[in-house]
Amino acid sequence: MLVIFGTRGRSHTIGSGQFYCPREGGDRSYEHKEARRYFTLFFLPIIPLDRLGDYIECTSCKSTYYTNVLEAPTGATIQDVMTQAIRHVAVALTVADGHVDAAERRVATDVVRQFANVEYGEADFDDDLNNLNPAHLVDNLEELGGILNDHGKEAVLSASMRLAASDGSIDPTEIAVVEQIGEALSMTPAHVRGVIETAADRS
Ligand SMILES: [Zn+2]
Repeated sequence: MLVIFGTRGRSHTIGSGQFYCPREGGDRSYEHKEARRYFTLFFLPIIPLDRLGDYIECTSCKSTYYTNVLEAPTGATIQDVMTQAIRHVAVALTVADGHVDAAERRVATDVVRQFANVEYGEADFDDDLNNLNPAHLVDNLEELGGILNDHGKEAVLSASMRLAASDGSIDPTEIAVVEQIGEALSMTPAHVRGVIETAADRS
């Protein structure tokens, strides 16, 4: 009897999840694939041999990537971090002048809702007032600074100026907090000043 044997590469899925597909520019599902060489008998893979490597395949466009593509944050992650950050910014700026009035609470909830595009009411803001410590704002924003582009950073700073102006005046303690926010986002002082002046002219 003639025995036909040989080897052949074959890949199988060893994991899956959500990632940011660079080719499509959006969040997609991926499969983490491992390629192995198999010993084949009558063309059927029988015994796994050496590992050829692993890669990430987008289930939507079928593009393949090195596994480090998973290190980039997904859009959903960025959205989560931005929502956390703007809520924290809203608390820090509302308490910066030592009191919280009705107008400030209204503007704070509006700014968070519009900026993060989430459901957020005054009860949520009151929870945040109790739970988010303004002293931890800088740490929270430094994480955000790493994943936001310049446009995103300016948006956070403009929203901060809207919050600072919410009680009818922008006082030096509020400006100081806005400057801290810019610094934590690793914006240059000149860039921060530009955004502050543009926002102050508008209000
Ligand atoms: Zn894709």
